[in-house]
Amino acid sequence: MLYKLGVDLGGTKIEAILLDENFVVIERKRIPTPKNDYDKILDSISSLVLDLSKNTSDFTLGICTPGAISKQTGLIKNSNTQCLVGRSLKEDLENKLDKKISMENDANCFALAEATLGVALDFDLVFGVILGTGVGGGIVIDKNLHSGRTNIGGEWGHHTLHRNGNPCYCGKTGCVETYISGPSLENQWTMLTGKSQPLPEILSNIDNEIGKKWKTNFLENFGYGLANVIDILDPDVIVLGGGLSNIDFLYTEGKESVYSKVFSDSIDTPILQNKLGDSAGVFGACML
Ligand SMILES: [Zn+2]
Repeated sequence: MLYKLGVDLGGTKIEAILLDENFVVIERKRIPTPKNDYDKILDSISSLVLDLSKNTSDFTLGICTPGAISKQTGLIKNSNTQCLVGRSLKEDLENKLDKKISMENDANCFALAEATLGVALDFDLVFGVILGTGVGGGIVIDKNLHSGRTNIGGEWGHHTLHRNGNPCYCGKTGCVETYISGPSLENQWTMLTGKSQPLPEILSNIDNEIGKKWKTNFLENFGYGLANVIDILDPDVIVLGGGLSNIDFLYTEGKESVYSKVFSDSIDTPILQNKLGDSAGVFGACML
């Protein structure tokens, strides 16, 4: 039997899972991510892989990472886990484990997991969206990832929504991420109210004039961002993941905002909440 071993390398935890060929979970483990120490991260991933594979020799190994792997250099780029940036994580792990590895970023793994085991199982062209600390996306066509010539396929979080808008860590201004990520929504709340509050608190306090303004801006930016994606990709379904995917109004007023901005007189693209939650990364890694 060919088993599938997946590892999700997150900012706070590393999770590993072993599936049999029918995608049944055989074993699952999670450990804290060593803080800003590349060698310790390598050691942790290796020991998890060796532990879960101790009773099987025949398995595929996929890893879900924060950030993308540069097609030119093989090095990690665009990662918010800083000690990974500029490192050849894939090659270093392959040498350490003496095994071939498939590696993709978390948004791609999310999209692949939802397209193969989750809410988008019955759809051909899936656009998976991560809305959380950052804004990412992944494209899956007929159960295969479309990562693109430059490995940035689906990265709608860094397309420009407002020229000369908010500065972004990527070096540009006005990126989608600087308007509808969790931290940027909290910043906009602070600018409107003078108060610094976490997103759940903000969401329970928007039934007033200022709250409505905040929400309207959010819906407009969400709408233009995803309408642009639909105009170019026209996916069969959009699946939302990440912490903000729990916000109910994104599936009602948010969807209407998107529809009103798409270049078509009729549109019914489903915008659905994910099914796998936090587990999408590690299941997606298995599917690579
Ligand atoms: Zn950016």
